[in-house]
Amino acid sequence: MSDRNLVNPDVNFIQELKKYGGQSLKKCFQCATCTSTCPLSTEENGFPRKQMLLAEWGLKDRLLEDPGPWLCFYCGDCSERCPRNADPGETMMAMRRYLTSEYDWTGLSKLMYGSVFWEVGILAAVAVIVVLLFMLPHDFGFGLLNRSGAAPLSTVMLNRFAPVDIVDWGDRIMAAILGVLLLSNAARMFSGLTRGEKVPLTSYIAQFPHFVFQGITQIRWKDCGSRTGITNWLRHLFLVSGYAIMFTLVVVFLPWFQVSNSTIHWTSFLGYYATIVLLGSTIWIIVDRMKKQKGMHRFSHFSDWLFPILIFLAALTGILVHIFRVADMPMPTYITYTIHMAIVVPMLVVEVPFGKWGHLLYRPLAIYVSAVKSRVRESASQEARVADRALQQI
Ligand code: SF4
Ligand code: SF4
Repeated sequence: MSDRNLVNPDVNFIQELKKYGGQSLKKCFQCATCTSTCPLSTEENGFPRKQMLLAEWGLKDRLLEDPGPWLCFYCGDCSERCPRNADPGETMMAMRRYLTSEYDWTGLSKLMYGSVFWEVGILAAVAVIVVLLFMLPHDFGFGLLNRSGAAPLSTVMLNRFAPVDIVDWGDRIMAAILGVLLLSNAARMFSGLTRGEKVPLTSYIAQFPHFVFQGITQIRWKDCGSRTGITNWLRHLFLVSGYAIMFTLVVVFLPWFQVSNSTIHWTSFLGYYATIVLLGSTIWIIVDRMKKQKGMHRFSHFSDWLFPILIFLAALTGILVHIFRVADMPMPTYITYTIHMAIVVPMLVVEVPFGKWGHLLYRPLAIYVSAVKSRVRESASQEARVADRALQQI
């Protein structure tokens, strides 16, 4: 191990990791049963024993350079086999939370992971701002909850209550902020993962489809876990498909999706699919967390609950708005719409860049960088072999 690897050990890191859910790290005595159990661990990227060691030694800088925590899909097999109950699966999850907070340059992520008060407080603050926006005077553009009462109570006119052009602009601004925050955090992650390695740009370009494929499918998950891999992977795939469709409908197709009166538009059918898979998969996740049976659900950090609960509430209020609108019930439509926005906006602007949702970008990025590096090493050793053979022939 080079000197660089021993720079800045943090003797309090075991303690710090507890804040992120890594309660049992200290019990590990480095037997490596976990690594030999893990179906995703490879010779080149061995985990989780290595990461347990780095964390025990407080080598935080090395963790920032290591894709290992993101290559774990948390099947829990290693935790079941660990003879010391050191729970390596959950410790890897805790490392991912820690890394997420390290990538975030605003410091909000650290605050939120460190305290339920801050996490709920920040979400609530954004929700209050959203509700206040709907209560602003009519001159600003919003309808019902204002002095002039612009939206009629005799029939539903959602676009008078929340003019679609204004909401559409709000969506785009929100998506832009979200993109900037998430990408800047991802850039910090990328700089850690590639520190000290020179990789030609052409290798990144050649492997880019790998990044897109992994990002969309997260296919490695199906090989994770002796019992639950395919089921968990499919559940996650449906969840992501519902989330992606809903996000696209809201950010790109809102003028078609947000219909003013009781008519049903073609976008409604995509919305039905997204709602069904979002409600179904989040209920499934919540029930599994309550039962605490599967390895990945045995321990739940507060953020693990928040993730499915927010999606569930967003999908539920979304379909209620639709039902009230089609049933031509003005007041329930407007009120539920406001509640829906007060859930969706904080969920997107707070949870995606600063919370658990960042994994949708961080994980494929780690898999991508690992693949690029391994391809570069492969071709370097091939070149060395060819050079060797050429030398022997001289
Ligand atoms: S986490 Fe458990 S199985 Fe893994 S090295 Fe430590 S003691 Fe061994
Ligand atoms: S939780 Fe599963 S994927 Fe993660 S390290 Fe353990 S065995 Fe490997």
